[in-house]
Amino acid sequence: MEKNQKDMFVMAMQQLKIVAEKINLDSGIYNILRQPERELTVAVPVKMDDGKIKVFTGFRVQHCSARGPCKGGIRYDLGVNLSEVKALAAWMTWKCALVNIPYGGAKGGVICDPFQLSEGELERLTRRYAAGIMPIIGERKDIPAPDVNTNAKIMGWIMDTVSMIEGRTTLGIVTGKPIELGGSLGRREATGRGVMISTLNLLKKLGLDPRQTTAAVQGFGNVGSVAAELLSLNGPKVVAVSDISGAYYNPNGLDITGMLNYVQTSKNHLLAGYQEAGMQIISKDDLLLLDVAVLVPAALENQITGENAALIRAKFIIEGANGPTSPEADLILEDRGIIAVPDILANAGGVIVSYFEWVQGLQSFFWDLDRINKELKNILTRSFDEVWTLAQEKKVSMRTAAYMIAVSKVADAIGRRGVFP
Ligand code: NAD
Repeated sequence: MEKNQKDMFVMAMQQLKIVAEKINLDSGIYNILRQPERELTVAVPVKMDDGKIKVFTGFRVQHCSARGPCKGGIRYDLGVNLSEVKALAAWMTWKCALVNIPYGGAKGGVICDPFQLSEGELERLTRRYAAGIMPIIGERKDIPAPDVNTNAKIMGWIMDTVSMIEGRTTLGIVTGKPIELGGSLGRREATGRGVMISTLNLLKKLGLDPRQTTAAVQGFGNVGSVAAELLSLNGPKVVAVSDISGAYYNPNGLDITGMLNYVQTSKNHLLAGYQEAGMQIISKDDLLLLDVAVLVPAALENQITGENAALIRAKFIIEGANGPTSPEADLILEDRGIIAVPDILANAGGVIVSYFEWVQGLQSFFWDLDRINKELKNILTRSFDEVWTLAQEKKVSMRTAAYMIAVSKVADAIGRRGVFP
C-alpha cells in the first residue's frame, strides 16, 4: 500500500479517540462524531473530446453541521476515495470549531487525473459533478471551496452551474471564486499566509529570530508556493521546496520569486527544468529529512509516518497540508521534542478567508485586502495562543490541545442543540 493510501478515516478517528478520552467526551456524542452526517457518491458522466462518454465517480461528505452550514474543499485526484473524503470532512469540522468560524465540516472529490483532461472536459466534469451534488450543497447548507488540483476557475464554473439551475446568481454557493465573480481579495494566498503567520507565532513564543531560521516546504501548489514566498519575505531562509516533479535544494536560500515566475509558464505549472546557481536536485523523500529549523509539509496527507519520523531533523513542523503526520509519527516526534503546529490550526487561513468571502458574497459588500489580512492574523493568532496555553497547561502536544478545544466546542454545540427529534 502506498504511504498516502492508508485508510485516512481510520487515522482521523484514532485522533478523535485519543482526545475523547482526554476530555471525557460523552459516549453518545463520541458515537455521533465517529460517523459523517451524510455521504453522497455520484456518477459523473462526461462527454469526452473524442465523442465517447466516460463516467467518473465523485463524492461529497458532510461530517457535522452542529455549529453551522458545512464547509470544505473539492479535490480532483486519482487517489481520491471515500475514506479520504470522510477524514478530510471531519478535519474541517475540528478546524472550523478551533478557529471559531460558524461552520461544520465537509469535503468533496472526484476520482480523476485533471492533467489528462482538456479544458472543455474539465469544465464538463465540474459542471456535472456540481449538478450531482446540488441536492445536498447550498449557500446555507454546504459551501464547497478549492482543494488539491482545483482552483478559482473551477469554483466559478460551479457557481455558474448552480446559478443557472436556480435561476439567480448564487454568490454564496462556493468560495475561492475568481475576484471578478465575487471572490475575496486574499483568499488564494490565505492558507499559505496562515502557514507563515503560524510559523512566526511559534518562533515568537520560543524567543527565536525568524531571520536566523531555515525552512523546507514540501509542495509548491496553492499552499506551498505562497507559504514559501511569504516565509522568505518574513525572515526564514527557504532552502528547499518540492513538487511532484522533484525536490530543489539550495543551502544559500532559493530564489522563490524566480521559482514562482517559472511555474507560471512551465508545463502543468511544475518546477521540472528549473535552474539557479548553487541549487541541487534531491529526492522528494530527502526533503523531509533536511536539517532545517522549520519543515512545512504542504502537499498531501500521510507524509511523515512511523517509518520516517525518527529521521526528521527539523525542529518545528508547520502543517500546511491536511493530515500530513500519522498518529504513529506524532508519538515519535513528541518523544523527540519536535513541535508540530497541527493542520487544523496552521492551515486554517484558507477557511477563515473563505468565511470572509461567504459573508461578503451574501451581503454583496466587499472588503479591502488590508482588512482581510488583519482579521485573518487576529483570528489565527488568538487561536494559536489558546492552543499554546492549553498545551503548556496540560503538558500535551499542540495537536492534542487543538483537538481538545475543537472537539469540546463541537460537543458543546451538539449538547445544546440536543438530538432530533
Ligand atoms: P495544489 O494541488 O495546489 O498543490 C499540491 C502540490 O503538492 C503540488 O505542487 C504538487 O506537485 C505537490 N505534490 C504532490 N505530491 C507530492 C509529493 N509526493 N512530493 C512533493 N510534492 C508533491 O494543492 P493545495 O491546494 O496547495 O493543497 C495542498 C495541501 O493543503 C492539501 O493537503 C490540502 O488539503 C491542504 N489545504 C489546502 C487549502 C487551500 O486553501 N488550497 C486549505 C487548507 C488545506
